[in-house]
Order: sequence, then C-alpha cells, then structure tokens
Amino acid sequence: MTPEDPHDVEPPYTYECTECGYRTEAESQPVECPECGGRMKNISVPREQ
Ligand SMILES: [Zn+2]
Repeated sequence: MTPEDPHDVEPPYTYECTECGYRTEAESQPVECPECGGRMKNISVPREQ
C-alpha cells in the first residue's frame, strides 16, 4: 500500500501567489491573489510539483 503524505497536511493550507509571492492561509484555494490578481498556489503540499 502507498503510505499517506508524511507531513499530514490539513487545513488551513498555505497559498502563495506565483506572481508577487503574497502568502495567505485558507481552507480552499483562493480565486486569485488579493494583492495583484495573480494565481495562488498551494505550497502546503510539497509533493505536488
Ligand atoms: Zn500576487
């Protein structure tokens, strides 16, 4: 069996803007960066690249 993610990440997740680096915590992915309108990336899941 495949082991679960050892980091055991659970909400709130940390999201970082790929454009300006703005970070925020949320339970679900923000639609867009409140600072610049860029795309928010979930950085709480390092396995997903
Ligand atoms: Zn931004």
